[in-house]
Amino acid sequence: MERVFNFSAGPSMLPVPVLEEAARDMLNYKGSGMSVMEMSHRSKVYEEIIKDAEAALRRLMSIPENYKVLFLQGGASTQFAAVPLNLLSKDGKADYIVSGQFSKKAYEEAQKYGDVQIAASSALDKFSHIPAFTAADLRPDADYVHICYNNTIFGTKYPEIPDTGSIPLVADMSSCIISEPVDVSRFGVIYAGAQKNMAPAGLTIVIVREDLLGKARPETPTMLNWQTMAENDSMYNTPPCYCIYVAKLVYEWILGMGGLEEMKRRNERKASLLYDYLDSQSYYTAPVEAGSRSMMNVTFVTGDKDLDAKFASEAAKAGLVNLKGHRSVGGMRASIYNAMPYEGVEALVAFMKKFAEENPKD
Ligand SMILES: *Cc1c(COP(=O)(O)O)cnc(C)c1O
Repeated sequence: MERVFNFSAGPSMLPVPVLEEAARDMLNYKGSGMSVMEMSHRSKVYEEIIKDAEAALRRLMSIPENYKVLFLQGGASTQFAAVPLNLLSKDGKADYIVSGQFSKKAYEEAQKYGDVQIAASSALDKFSHIPAFTAADLRPDADYVHICYNNTIFGTKYPEIPDTGSIPLVADMSSCIISEPVDVSRFGVIYAGAQKNMAPAGLTIVIVREDLLGKARPETPTMLNWQTMAENDSMYNTPPCYCIYVAKLVYEWILGMGGLEEMKRRNERKASLLYDYLDSQSYYTAPVEAGSRSMMNVTFVTGDKDLDAKFASEAAKAGLVNLKGHRSVGGMRASIYNAMPYEGVEALVAFMKKFAEENPKD
């Protein structure tokens, strides 16, 4: 089989030049005589890899000096617990904006640790938009506010960074990190699982403002304590070495094309192609409200469950795979992360047109 256009929400496509470079280095990384997978994480050669990975991410995202970058394990879901453990004081409060399934899970996990409330939610509208809120909806003494910046399952994204006043903003950016420039200084904490837009599964990035370190509760498991991880340069224990290496290659790939401005231009061009087509016809419906559309995850339905199923299976036969929507919402979802080429979206739109012609609705 040839390589397919893989629209999976995650793990998802990686850039071909990155896979090729990893393949070239597979057996003998830069004359070390071994694969990156086989190296001690304490070796000089590996130390350089993780340092370069951090430096590349810092450059790519213009991460200010007063932020730590952590390379962790456990996925974004582990951070659902790590966030309150590190930030929520014993008698403290935290406010959550619920805009989809992952932010709901984050909220439910945080509830175990204290006075945690939902400040705004779009659940009643089936998460078809980002809930509107202002600083006035937040408790002024909250330790932090948590948002999910891009909702992978529903295909929504915040049109801009919400204003939370002086309350630290914590954002799950698993499915949109490094897809476009973002002002890191507006956030207290950014975290992301790597398997959507950065690397193979197994790596989680946490970017945390230094003044938010040192507040972890005494019972915080050592492995979830950001300060411990920061003090040990993410090497308290064995980090996900190979994933970090691939992430480094991905960061360098984007830097090589001109950074996040160029990445954004490419992503916008892909998303516009798909949304413009969706807006130009009536066979498919895009359930997300206009101001909340994600550039990374595009959802649509035919309005007929059987046709939706047929669409996904016939698309797969045509080399366009993993277009079935999340099991909780149905329909279709095209995840068009950084690594998806423009040609993949062109092929998808051509297939959608053909499918609509060949399968008229009565
Ligand atoms: C995929 C995803 C998660 C879950 O990530 P894991 O790494 O599987 O724990 C959480 N939040 C968002 C926004 C995601 O897209």
